[in-house]
Amino acid sequence: MRNIHRVVLVISVLVLGCTTKDVPKTEIVCSEVVNSTNINKVSINKINSVEVVLVGELESQIILSGLVDVQSVDSTILIDVRYSSLNNFMKEDLYGDLEKIYLQKSVVNDLKKCSDYLKSIDSSLVLLVYDGVRPRSVQQKMWDVLDLPVHEKIKFVSNPKNGSIHNYGCAVDLTIAKLNGDTLDMGAGYDDIRKIAYPRYESKFLANGLLSLEQVNNRKLLRKVMKKGGFYNIQTEWWHFNRYNRNKAKSLFDIIE
Ligand SMILES: [Zn+2]
Repeated sequence: MRNIHRVVLVISVLVLGCTTKDVPKTEIVCSEVVNSTNINKVSINKINSVEVVLVGELESQIILSGLVDVQSVDSTILIDVRYSSLNNFMKEDLYGDLEKIYLQKSVVNDLKKCSDYLKSIDSSLVLLVYDGVRPRSVQQKMWDVLDLPVHEKIKFVSNPKNGSIHNYGCAVDLTIAKLNGDTLDMGAGYDDIRKIAYPRYESKFLANGLLSLEQVNNRKLLRKVMKKGGFYNIQTEWWHFNRYNRNKAKSLFDIIE
């Protein structure tokens, strides 16, 4: 039953990708299939010109909401989807079969400007993205597990009640890497909740030798590149960039639940 549900969602996704000319015809096929709990042979025959690719429920929900796979727009951008692995602060695969990075379409286009700019500065460097849209259900899980007082917790995970900019697909976590995927040294790893990861304290850590000039310069390069696409950083995570503030994101898009 679960597989059938997945196929139904995928078919509707693919219909959205059809050319304008094809839409009226395929829309009918789409609604017929979506309203059916069984995919029978007739339905499949009607869409036999469409390549059916299976994606999970979470990814289907994201695509149906209009978000775009970052690498489909810029294939030079590398990804390391930490929340779809055990290599994250929760040591848990939170995304399951969602193994791509999705953002709002306009945000992906802006990210491409940053990627192009980085390559124009140094052709041996590329962006490497850890996280894009983060469904609120996953955010809630992180919120529940993170064992910190609320005033500390909100520095790393926005309160799911308010929705975070990640939930809208307007925030991105990323770093800079060499072409082989080796990441530049930022002086603290992704999702490091220690103060050494805070842009706010960089000059202090540089002065006392806990951050090197190279590490600080690498962070500055990331910020400079991201600014090109209209992204801005926050003071507690060197890897996190917002394209819009929460109010603007809310006015433009819906939360991915
Ligand atoms: Zn983030």
